[in-house]
Amino acid sequence: MFELTGRVAIVTGSGSARGIGRTIAFTLAEQEAKVVIADMNKEGIEETVRAIREAGGEAIGVEVNVTDKASVDAMVEQVLAVYGRIDILVNNAGISQKVTVQDMTLADMNKIFNVNMYGLFLCSQAVLEPMKSRQYGRIVNISSVSAKRGGGVFGGAHYSASKAAVLGFSKNLAREVAKDGITVNSVAPGLVNTDIWKSLDEQSAASVIAGIPMGRPGETREIAAAIAFLASEEASYITGEEIDINGGSHM
Ligand code: NAD
Repeated sequence: MFELTGRVAIVTGSGSARGIGRTIAFTLAEQEAKVVIADMNKEGIEETVRAIREAGGEAIGVEVNVTDKASVDAMVEQVLAVYGRIDILVNNAGISQKVTVQDMTLADMNKIFNVNMYGLFLCSQAVLEPMKSRQYGRIVNISSVSAKRGGGVFGGAHYSASKAAVLGFSKNLAREVAKDGITVNSVAPGLVNTDIWKSLDEQSAASVIAGIPMGRPGETREIAAAIAFLASEEASYITGEEIDINGGSHM
């Protein structure tokens, strides 16, 4: 698919059994990257690492809370101790909440921003030095179609705002580190066939599908493929860019 052989890749939020992060980790491992399964979910980490190894890939697990600077710094140290380098960071860990602005509390807002934006900031900041020292890096951030056209049945305005913040942050960082051989790009998935989709009742599912020209949710592998590209050698001249992957629901 794309050239990733021997690259060391941290994928945050990759310990979710049916999540996007797990498929990203599998896809990078299939391209012979060494993958770090970084998540808060210990069992999910262990299961994903085992599955990748069984499939012939290379992976280690690291328990991390992306909202905690000490925990993020410890993750980076651990990865450097094992592999001596970090080439790729995929900021995938994210949370959502369905709530109207009228009912939203400041605590709700803080919780969403803490993971989706501040966690992404902490992880990105922590890998800059190791990447700069080798004059090579690929940071890929996961935004959402909600950033561009507002959320729907899944997330509140705080979720959309946090994912829009990711896009602006990515472009600034891309400018800052372009001369250090580091690219920073984003992908903005539309609705993806994960647990959240399966939780919808028939009527809600039909109304969501009606807004997608392709008439179906995306598959995790369709998101992971774009991330593998942005993380690869082949994407060497792309930075500050974002790829929409949404079946045409936002053009
Ligand atoms: P998921 O809930 O299946 O997985 C998220 C993972 O993040 C979980 O394993 C969780 O343990 C981890 N996580 C949460 N908080 C964390 C923290 N503080 N530190 C470390 N790990 C933490 O989610 P998903 O549906 O696979 O979504 C993955 C990403 O894609 C998210 O950023 C989400 O906003 C984005 N996204 C998802 C969809 C969709 O339809 N599923 C659409 C657009 C964007």
